[in-house]
Amino acid sequence: MRLRNKPNAPQKIAEYPHYIPEQPDNWVGKWQERFGNDHPIQIEVGTGKGRFITEMAKLHPEINYIGIELQMSVIVVALDRLIEENLPNLQLLHVNGGSITQYFAEGEVDQVYLNFSDPWPKKRHEKRRLTYKSFLESYEKVLVPEGEIHFKTDNQGLFEYSLSSFSKYGMTLEQVWLNLHESDFEGNVMTEYEEKFSSRGSRIYRVVAKFPK
Ligand code: SAM
Repeated sequence: MRLRNKPNAPQKIAEYPHYIPEQPDNWVGKWQERFGNDHPIQIEVGTGKGRFITEMAKLHPEINYIGIELQMSVIVVALDRLIEENLPNLQLLHVNGGSITQYFAEGEVDQVYLNFSDPWPKKRHEKRRLTYKSFLESYEKVLVPEGEIHFKTDNQGLFEYSLSSFSKYGMTLEQVWLNLHESDFEGNVMTEYEEKFSSRGSRIYRVVAKFPK
């Protein structure tokens, strides 16, 4: 996702440290304390403009959500949404998803969402894919034992690659959807990209993959 540079983004982010912590590494092992409850924590890596995570937070006040996004010009759009909705169970992190072990303690996260991750189709960019083994290692470290990744995409190549990456890592594929929108899956929350691609007729793939004990 590319957005025009937003010159006022750093200032805006600095104005809302209660939504985007300035020093997220200060909260390692203390995210529930920050939320002020003992509810489970679910994260989305590559949250984009935040439609999915904001909707999930509205639907599930019993869960704490954290949206992680690398690009400042994009996360600031998610921040606008959060300011408007004023949700106590949603936080945003402006960091690289590859570094999450710096921001979460072992077992602190209950579930990981990956939605419409950049496909990086060239083999030489494989390590940038959010389902590459080094990312899986990081997710496994911060997740509870037998934690799950919930992954959706319209990109068949990335989907096939990810199934194979999960499987080589020793994960169990709990459920696989080859055409989510034509399935009986209930309660799907759409992302920005999902809306865009499905309206153009693209098929949406989904998988829930579980780490071993
Ligand atoms: N999940 C959103 C959706 O479905 O509408 C956005 C999808 S967009 C194609 C992928 C997003 O992932 C981009 O905003 C990109 O900046 C972000 N991203 C890519 N690699 C990342 C990383 N290593 N850490 C955090 N965010 C990342």
